[in-house]
Amino acid sequence: MTEMLDVAHVDAFAQKLNGGVTRPDDSDYDEVRTLYNAMIDKRPALIVRCADRDDVVAAVNFGREEGLDIAIRCGGHNGPGLGSVDDGLVIDLSGLKTVSVDPDSATATIGGGCLVGDVDAATHEHGLAAPAGIISTTGASGLMLGGGIGHLSRKAGLSIDNILGAEVVLADGSVVNANESENDDLYWAIRGGGGNFGVVTQLKLRLHPVSTVVAGPMFWDLDNTADILRWYREFILNAPEDLNGFFAFASVPPAPMFPEELHLQKVAAVVWCWTGPEDGAADAFAEARSQPGLLLDGVQPMPLPTLNSAFDDLYPAGDQWYWRADFVESIPDEAVEKHAEFGAKMPTWKCTMHLYPIDGAAHRAGPTDTPWGYRNANWGSVFAGVDPDPANVEAISAWSKDYYEALHPFSAGGAYVNMMMEEGQDRIEAAYGENYARLARTKAEYDPDNLFHVNQNIKPAA
Ligand SMILES: Cc1cc2nc3c(=O)[nH]c(=O)nc-3n(C[C@H](O)[C@H](O)[C@H](O)COP(=O)(O)OP(=O)(O)OC[C@H]3O[C@@H](n4cnc5c(N)ncnc54)[C@H](O)[C@@H]3O)c2cc1C
Repeated sequence: MTEMLDVAHVDAFAQKLNGGVTRPDDSDYDEVRTLYNAMIDKRPALIVRCADRDDVVAAVNFGREEGLDIAIRCGGHNGPGLGSVDDGLVIDLSGLKTVSVDPDSATATIGGGCLVGDVDAATHEHGLAAPAGIISTTGASGLMLGGGIGHLSRKAGLSIDNILGAEVVLADGSVVNANESENDDLYWAIRGGGGNFGVVTQLKLRLHPVSTVVAGPMFWDLDNTADILRWYREFILNAPEDLNGFFAFASVPPAPMFPEELHLQKVAAVVWCWTGPEDGAADAFAEARSQPGLLLDGVQPMPLPTLNSAFDDLYPAGDQWYWRADFVESIPDEAVEKHAEFGAKMPTWKCTMHLYPIDGAAHRAGPTDTPWGYRNANWGSVFAGVDPDPANVEAISAWSKDYYEALHPFSAGGAYVNMMMEEGQDRIEAAYGENYARLARTKAEYDPDNLFHVNQNIKPAA
């Protein structure tokens, strides 16, 4: 325990909780504090393992009264580790995992600590789905409050477009609802402003009738990259909204499901998801299948949760991650050439680059309807250096940064906050563009002292 914290205070606080606390001298401290990204090693003074909303209120009040930096942790996947804080207090929401689904209204209410997989499992039982991300171990509220890009973005919009309301514990410890008719300014702000405004203990989500999808990857020979990317950039923007497909560079995983002769080969890929009628899938994929250099076609019918967890084993907790990102309106030929160059230079086999389409239904919200600053962008790009070996940190970080630098001139200016490292205030403001000023005003109203500053921080307006 740091010198700042009075042991008696912590003991008294801990006794009031329905959950518990973990302190630096507890035997499970290292296990509990560990984040997904092994490159980040933070040592909080206190981790509050909240069991319910009352624990969250108590934790916010205790942290504020003790003058501690407060971090909010859901799935712990944040790239720069903003779900934890050195010497401060972590509000660990992993005990708030209930999901209740109302099939009649096609809505779900999820606890603030749910993972994407928890939401998927509960909604799938009713043949419904909430737009979320491509790896099921990611925190649902961390992902959704920042935006939420995934396989359903073109069909059903971003996660934020499907948040109908939230229960939020504010900096003063009060609990409020945020929805269209209550605290509508807060409702606006949390749909993209992340954890800046309070601790979200519940989210109400709109669900969509998606159950079985026809989905999976297609891999092309890296030599065909330029042709594939030039084809893809036109094709996807004109495809029906039932078809999602993100372009990727990857290495074929050395797993039994892939032909051994392809193992570890670098490829250009598209990971598809068709949500239309199954008998329409052959037509939807015909053009892709006719593109030259196709090495593997893994597209097949599967339950949506299977698709949303297909990469879980490939990317378990404990790898080193360094990533950069940008929003992209178009991919001119010069950008295609740069992509081809950096795709071929991935330094280790888990490194990857994704271009996630964010057109279709994600374009139906206007530029200021939510804080998401780039409704005009067609893709979110991410350059992810990933490797299990700490010795490769330098190589994967350099590749990610160099790739980003080379492509940034072709970007829309800012990036998705959930796929950024700690890159400075300019980059945060660029992420929100014209919406930043309103976010700052809302922050001043709900968190004037910036209690919740361990995040991609929105500074309260003066
Ligand atoms: C392997 C991997 C795959 C990913 N895939 C996708 C993807 O497909 N689509 C996508 O959009 N993003 C994706 N991301 C990015 C992801 O959205 C961010 O990393 C996000 O921060 C993760 O949320 P978390 O809850 O797991 O993180 P945490 O580290 O637990 O939290 C991160 C931040 O979220 C905020 N937060 C979390 N929960 C709450 C809450 N209940 N109330 C208030 N604030 C809260 C806090 O500010 C906190 O600092 C992926 C990340 C990884 C590592």
